[in-house]
Amino acid sequence: MTTLPNCPKCNSEYTYEDGNQLVCPECAYEWVPGVEGAEQEEEKVFKDANGNMLQDGDTVTVIKDLKVKGSSSVVKMGTKVKNIRLVDGDHDIDCKIDGFGPMQLKTEFVKKI
Ligand SMILES: [Zn+2]
Repeated sequence: MTTLPNCPKCNSEYTYEDGNQLVCPECAYEWVPGVEGAEQEEEKVFKDANGNMLQDGDTVTVIKDLKVKGSSSVVKMGTKVKNIRLVDGDHDIDCKIDGFGPMQLKTEFVKKI
């Protein structure tokens, strides 16, 4: 005898198989086992230099002087960066720095405040 999973909706254990589906007699939920959650992409985790999780809208500080690409300016260590946006890519922070404008930073060079 196979053990069927409990109903994902109401957690009833009286589920039964109907073809390739599972059916819950208590809340009438029908689903295909194995598919639930399987296609969910693993969400990328963004971490700062200390390993703290970063989220959109966080405020961070820069932990080392960073040269601004295509200019002679440098974003100084300790510069506060508000309202960051996390993106996929080599530079995974989209942000705007006062006096510099739109910038891209790396999570490894910032620290969450
Ligand atoms: Zn159910």
